Amino acid sequence: MTSITIDNVTKQYGSGRKAVRAMRDVCLHIGEGELFFLLGPSGCGKTTLLRAIAGLHDVTAGAIRFGDRDVTHLPVEQRNTAMVFQNYALWPHMTVRQNVEFGPRMKQVPAGERRQRAESHLELVELLELAKRRPNQLSGGQQQRVALARALAASADCLLLDEPLSNLDAKLRLQMRTELRGLIKSSGATAVYVTHDQAEALSMADRIAVMHEGEIVQVGTPEEVYNRPANAFVADFIGEANFLDAIVKTADAETLTIETTAGMILAERPSDLAVSARDSVRVCIRPEWIAIAPTGASPSNTSDLPATIQQVIYLGGTRQYLCTLADQTPWRVSTLGEQHAPFAVGQEVLLCIAPSDVRILTA
Ligand code: ADP
Ligand code: MG
Repeated sequence: MTSITIDNVTKQYGSGRKAVRAMRDVCLHIGEGELFFLLGPSGCGKTTLLRAIAGLHDVTAGAIRFGDRDVTHLPVEQRNTAMVFQNYALWPHMTVRQNVEFGPRMKQVPAGERRQRAESHLELVELLELAKRRPNQLSGGQQQRVALARALAASADCLLLDEPLSNLDAKLRLQMRTELRGLIKSSGATAVYVTHDQAEALSMADRIAVMHEGEIVQVGTPEEVYNRPANAFVADFIGEANFLDAIVKTADAETLTIETTAGMILAERPSDLAVSARDSVRVCIRPEWIAIAPTGASPSNTSDLPATIQQVIYLGGTRQYLCTLADQTPWRVSTLGEQHAPFAVGQEVLLCIAPSDVRILTA
């Protein structure tokens, strides 16, 4: 177990006119035993950062430390990390047991202990009875578990996982989330987990770093990044978000009045928000933070934007209303899926927003 510090790391592939700046000035601190996620769209630099931690390529600038040990220029085999790849990368000519014993064998662990370690990890992932099979005789989910057992059996200080569930079908992927989190946490290893799937990150992570175009744009717990997105990219990438352009009319210590293109909104002001009257901002509100009321029947203490319902989508547990605001901006509202929809297409309604649910984005 170790902490990981990424200190101003930049990675450029190639040089001259062909240079690709894949990650820029990345700073992170990952705690001992933490399950830490790198989340972002394809091409944003997640794998580049993970491979830099593993030592699979050099970085262009900056430093990487495990605890207080500087590993920036250490080769892979001296870093004591174990990696789980998207395609599992199991040895096809070895049995399941031989695959899991591979790490300990490389470290010259004696045969008896090696065998015992492999067995206990195969038992952990519930594959002991398939120990004699070869990888091509296993399902995708089983291969994924062998790859995990192999990584865990290597007793590495940090476990690095690159989209480990993305080759599984949707149902198994969902089921494996809790299972995988449990296995990683019980191993005690510090884990860095790469995914482009926001639901996977929200449901499994201790903390998440959201990446965009080679940079870290926000670091926080799942609740923090969902409830307090740092900018419009994060708000839009994680979950769903409604936006409106707006101008701050009045700004006191606790409250803002905001003139949006679809009506006035009152917002609670977070203590760290630097805005003043006449600033241009963007308002962001999640679909499930909005209540719908019939015209003329607004609850107290909310700001109400007039809207027309364009479409109603029943999703079982929830119902989504696609609405247009007074300025024709389309917004989504989601409510619990009552058995009968209380509002109909074409109906004029009020979208009611509590001041504490308004997020103000300045970037
Ligand atoms: P992610 O894992 O988030 O999808 P990557 O880290 O694989 O993103 O890639 C980040 C950027 O670096 C992309 O623009 C990609 O095309 C580029 N890239 C990745 N590997 C190489 C390489 N070996 N040579 C040149 N460019 C690369
Ligand atoms: Mg990748």
